[in-house]
Amino acid sequence: MLFGDSPPPGLVGIAKLAAESEVLDAKRVVRYFEIDCKGLLNRTRPGMPFEWSLNPYRGCEFACRYCYARYTHEIMELRQSEDVENQIYAKSDIAAILRRELRRIDGSKGIAIGTATDPYQPAERRYGRTRAALEVFAEQRGNAISITTKSDLVKRDIPLLRQIAKRNAVSVNMTITTLDASLARLLEPRAPRPELRLRAVAALAEAEIDVGVFPNPIMPLITDQEQRLDRLARAARDRGATYFGGGVLFLMPCSRRVFFPFVAKHFPHLLRRYEERYEKEPYLKGPYRDTIRERIAVIRDRYGLKSGPALRENLEAQDPQACLFAPLPVHVVG
Ligand code: SF4
Repeated sequence: MLFGDSPPPGLVGIAKLAAESEVLDAKRVVRYFEIDCKGLLNRTRPGMPFEWSLNPYRGCEFACRYCYARYTHEIMELRQSEDVENQIYAKSDIAAILRRELRRIDGSKGIAIGTATDPYQPAERRYGRTRAALEVFAEQRGNAISITTKSDLVKRDIPLLRQIAKRNAVSVNMTITTLDASLARLLEPRAPRPELRLRAVAALAEAEIDVGVFPNPIMPLITDQEQRLDRLARAARDRGATYFGGGVLFLMPCSRRVFFPFVAKHFPHLLRRYEERYEKEPYLKGPYRDTIRERIAVIRDRYGLKSGPALRENLEAQDPQACLFAPLPVHVVG
């Protein structure tokens, strides 16, 4: 009840009924903070397809049950699983820092936006930190930029992405783990539903922005079935995606603490197998990975999709003279 064990005296009718009602669900409270950052671009491990990563936010409101990025909050001593979902930090001075850093690095080696948090999570509507970074890229040339998201909010920035693509290579990786809206709601409770993400794919493709779909992470016996992946690849192709790829779930200890109870609740028959497979190692080894790799490759070929964006090729295809005389983009107002 809203007022404790007994409602205040004197209430009648609907007010009394309301006061006596049981709380079904307390509204979650997401708190937003601004965090100073000294640097924005992080160098990635050798062997990654991009040399730099950029995350305009810390924490991610989408609350995916398998999220591996929880460690980024652990670094800040925020260890409760809800902290990563409910305490969102927007990085400050993005434009000035990025401009300074881009002068010192070779952005043609790949800059991936959204490797640890979603750059188009709800905070972006209010704080526009991803957009601030993109506006800087629109002033630059020669960068190979990829954006990974689960959100259709990316559509807002299509005009800006087109500006960027005139003198840089840019691609958008849309993550869609499943087309099944109910399953997606369980797995990614606050992320836009799959159909909205597919519509964003179509809008990006229509605007001639290179776009692909990744069913990441592929979860054994939950999203890995051939039929599910095939439907997803077909839908991606039909909406204009040019590439499709996927990798198997990995579970760091911080992710296991959330994912195992989730499996216990919603897929209890799978719990023992998940525990056996992931208890000691975050990555699955052995033939399962090869099976999934092969499955994805076969599906991809079936629909004439590539395995990833052609960022480097797109950069090389640009006419450097044309770049020199391309008009500088003006500030694009959203
Ligand atoms: S969208 Fe990505 S970063 Fe955000 S909660 Fe989901 S997996 Fe984690």
